Amino acid sequence: MSRFFSSKYAALEPYTPGEQPMDMDRYVKLNTNESPFPPSQKALDYAANNTRTLNLYSDPNSYDLTCAIAKTYGVDKDMVLATNGSDEILNFAFMAFTDQKTPALFADITYGFYPVYAQLNNSAVEIVPLREDFSLNVDDYIGKKGTVFIANPNAPTGTAIPVSEIERLVASDPNRVVVVDEAYVDFGGESSVSLVKKYENVLVCQTFSKSRSFAGGRLGYGIGSKTLISDLNTVKYSTNPYNINSMTSAMGIGILSDPDYTKANCKTIMENRAFTVAGLKKMGFKVLPSSANFIFVSSDRIEGGAYYRSLKEKGVLVRHFDKARISNWCRVSIGTRESMQKYLDVTEQILKERT
Ligand code: PMP
Repeated sequence: MSRFFSSKYAALEPYTPGEQPMDMDRYVKLNTNESPFPPSQKALDYAANNTRTLNLYSDPNSYDLTCAIAKTYGVDKDMVLATNGSDEILNFAFMAFTDQKTPALFADITYGFYPVYAQLNNSAVEIVPLREDFSLNVDDYIGKKGTVFIANPNAPTGTAIPVSEIERLVASDPNRVVVVDEAYVDFGGESSVSLVKKYENVLVCQTFSKSRSFAGGRLGYGIGSKTLISDLNTVKYSTNPYNINSMTSAMGIGILSDPDYTKANCKTIMENRAFTVAGLKKMGFKVLPSSANFIFVSSDRIEGGAYYRSLKEKGVLVRHFDKARISNWCRVSIGTRESMQKYLDVTEQILKERT
């Protein structure tokens, strides 16, 4: 730390992104929940012909993109805010709806960025632990004061709760905001977007990074009531008005015009997930029920950290979190059938070497 660094950030513990190794070709990369498929060719063609001239700033309203997102979900365009990845809409939500008086409420085992955003924005935090089996009990939040952040499906566990449970939470207290982070919803989860027309106090965040194969383009969005979106726009225009670049915006529109491609890829990922889970269960692994493009796995035969390291040595990269409650688990992204076969083969080899 330099002597110039503001004391307000001195204790900040930044988020640690998953490894993006330079020697990527050496690995089957199953560590950051990316799509193994390229972005839609239709979208690439559209963007090649429709990217606004790059000597001009991008449209600060992202008007065409916002309309395309709104149309996709059947909501008014004033109920949508496009952002630089869904990380940005999440940070905006922490900025807008949490502080020392209104704590952020979230699970002990969930997306690792939530505590960082809370700390960055000097917001109070109340951790609401998941049940013993890593499932989320909505009742644990009811009656508590603060803004709720729920990843549904959750990361890194992959487990999901039904929209009826989210609705029960949203309806239980109209005076607090519930943020539903649906980064992984397209792989078998139930979306809460339908709630935004009925309730003023729910914000749904989604992304182009997973099901839409566009993690490198950095595109996400929030859908909520006009009043919530207006607050988030106040934050956006005080932070980075040109938050979406013109190339990404054109790609976003192109991707939304090709929903069949997205749907087909999600179907393949869900099939590959079932294939992988079946293979792991045969080897005695515990696998949490997943509605995401990753699975959370553990085995009595090998400790989580050792499993992660052995896989890496043999060319398969997964994610291990050095956190007490989940140190015996690894999160494995679902890739192509060939990648998952390699992952299963390497796992079998690792277990054999230990017997
Ligand atoms: N929410 C969750 C639960 C995630 O795992 C991620 C991906 N790291 C994000 C949001 C952010 O994704 P992106 O910024 O790429 O949209």
